[in-house]
Amino acid sequence: MQEVYKNIFMEALPLPNNPLKNLNLFIIKGESRSMIVDCGFNLEETKQRMLDVFEKYALDFDKTILYLTHLHSDHVGLATFLRERGVEVYISQVDGKILNNPDATWAATYTNAMLQGLSEDNFKIEEHPGYQYAIEGKLDFREAIVGERLSIDDYEFEILDLAGHTPGMTGLYERKHKLLFCGDHILQRITPNITFWGFQYGDSLGTYLKNLDKVYDLDVKHLFSSHRELVKDHRERIDELKDHHEKRLEEVKKALALKKYSSVRDVTKQMHWDIKSRNFDEFPQSQKSFATGEAHAHLEYLRHRGQADYIQKDEKLYYFLLV
Ligand SMILES: [Zn+2]
Repeated sequence: MQEVYKNIFMEALPLPNNPLKNLNLFIIKGESRSMIVDCGFNLEETKQRMLDVFEKYALDFDKTILYLTHLHSDHVGLATFLRERGVEVYISQVDGKILNNPDATWAATYTNAMLQGLSEDNFKIEEHPGYQYAIEGKLDFREAIVGERLSIDDYEFEILDLAGHTPGMTGLYERKHKLLFCGDHILQRITPNITFWGFQYGDSLGTYLKNLDKVYDLDVKHLFSSHRELVKDHRERIDELKDHHEKRLEEVKKALALKKYSSVRDVTKQMHWDIKSRNFDEFPQSQKSFATGEAHAHLEYLRHRGQADYIQKDEKLYYFLLV
């Protein structure tokens, strides 16, 4: 147990077989009600750990709020399990809707993979890691509305729009104490994955960078992020993340300059990836779609700024530079 601030505790919830290793679980212990931020994979051992947490902190199911920053299964896996026990669950309408429509969501993931050129790699949705640990059934949730507040004793948390990593990610900002629960918006040592969610969700990288600037301007003394060690200086880390994406955009432009028309897959193959496999063709299936999704988000960022465009042929998109 670690008290990271007055009446705010952090526990490491294991994420088995996942490179992220742990989820930082936050417990805000109050007199009349308490709050938990995010909840780990839907797995037997995680369930037991969660029940232990409720016992250890003497939390009542019906006097505890579960606040979900975003829809990823390492954050929401146990949400229906806790909801059935009486815990009130909050998530943004955008992410909640995606979460509660898994068939449409996976169909869209498949369509995007085809647009990106992954038909060549025999892409299968069943091999996508998020597919295996999804929540059970539909989640009965209350909408986390940006700008509204949730109070736990002396703390007044304001719901903040942190979209980018997912289309509806939100965070909780406590102005008086200068605390921010940021989900996966800013992580130490890991660059949060920014992917293409589909044209209806717009320019996810542009949204992400805008929301990094928003957090940069906030007065934050304690940044509570969901994985790895906590970030000490949020501005320094934001500068590093922005720098990373700047370099990535340069890489994408260089890749586009090699040919007249490039599929997202072509561009991805030209980019550098921190994966042990020697080249893209040897990537594990799941890593291929992560990589093309990220490349695609960067391509769309360029397109939204008039620096690139695409044509569509059959099921595939082909991007080109606009000079
Ligand atoms: Zn995430």
